[in-house]
Amino acid sequence: MKMKFRFLGGADTVGKMGMTMENGDETYLVEYGMAPTKPPEYPLMAPRIKHAFLTHSHLDHCGMIPAVCGRDRCELFSTPLTAEVGEIMMHDSLKIAKAENYPLPYTTGDIERTMKAVVPFTFGDTIELNGFDTKLHSAGHVPGATMFEFIGDTSTVYTGDIHTVRTRLVDAARPVDCENLFIEGTYGGRLHPDRKQVEADFVEKVKEVVDRGGTALIPSFAVGRTQEIMIILKDLGFDMWVDGMGRSVTRLYSEYPEYLLNAKDLKAAKRKFNEVRTANMRREARRADVIVTTGGMLDGGPALNYIRSLKDDPANAILLVGYQAEDTNGRMLMDTGLLKLDDEPVKINCELQKFDFSAHADHKQLVDFVKACDPTNVVIMHSETREMFLDDLADYNVILPSLDEPFELDV
Ligand SMILES: [Zn+2]
Ligand SMILES: [Zn+2]
Repeated sequence: MKMKFRFLGGADTVGKMGMTMENGDETYLVEYGMAPTKPPEYPLMAPRIKHAFLTHSHLDHCGMIPAVCGRDRCELFSTPLTAEVGEIMMHDSLKIAKAENYPLPYTTGDIERTMKAVVPFTFGDTIELNGFDTKLHSAGHVPGATMFEFIGDTSTVYTGDIHTVRTRLVDAARPVDCENLFIEGTYGGRLHPDRKQVEADFVEKVKEVVDRGGTALIPSFAVGRTQEIMIILKDLGFDMWVDGMGRSVTRLYSEYPEYLLNAKDLKAAKRKFNEVRTANMRREARRADVIVTTGGMLDGGPALNYIRSLKDDPANAILLVGYQAEDTNGRMLMDTGLLKLDDEPVKINCELQKFDFSAHADHKQLVDFVKACDPTNVVIMHSETREMFLDDLADYNVILPSLDEPFELDV
């Protein structure tokens, strides 16, 4: 059978993913995200959708799902953990849009209808739709993150975001034999340093900051990174606090231990960190040894408040542990040493360091993964550097899709 694919966003950028698959007169949606820039950016408007698929709940993949599932009441296939984390993220982006006076992309009613439309679905399950089956595989990216395998006459794998080495939270994604492989290419042309070494350097730095009497502030993404950092630091015996949306995601992860590599580690980490729940606790946390808090790219969340009180003492440190997308406050801080607090860029006088704790496979890991899946067609998405793969993937028919330009594949 033939299907027509079309990217509504996220083909040649990291952010606002969205793709449709046309199967006869039915159209399916795979992911529908947003870029949380100011103002936010959205993918192209989706046509009427019959079923939607969601790999995981980072905003660039899930942020706009309610605009479609709320409107069309289409079923949404995802793991239950992805759906529940997604609900938090969707409410949060609505809250931000309201606070900043941006036009609202959907309503809380849309989020409620979306949650009712979720068909919970997990690794090993198969769902039969009109002429093809869908299977889920772990993507190794964050807990509950999936790759979709669509099986018609042949098989098509859509990776979403993947990692192919084991991290503290999830095991590595395993290759799936297929004819068509849609794969993310975030790290095209770049390699990660050895992860164990990064962890060791990071722990050393935290100890150094605390030993000199400073506070280590670690702005982290709520989904995945907060929990991973908590696990890495759990045995240090310091006065450690966790703040922001990462707290609710941590609670959800604990409710779904089957999606964690080691649920005991997270449980132990939760015991070692104090949760900030009140304004008083937030004041106390400012004097702590370690604060792990959202937001990861310093565009909002309690991180900015902590920075306000920590920024002028060189004993303190801001340790960035996540991807800093273009046009974010975090990227500006790395590039210029300045950070926007209350709209004005101010100089940050405490120590600043970045650690590469990526949840994405790097260039070589992606190329190895493609070779192990052994497809005929490779579609590269979610990347600003897709051309970097062309040499290493010369044996395959590589497709670099453009926004809104449909293409057909045998599936
Ligand atoms: Zn992601
Ligand atoms: Zn992504």
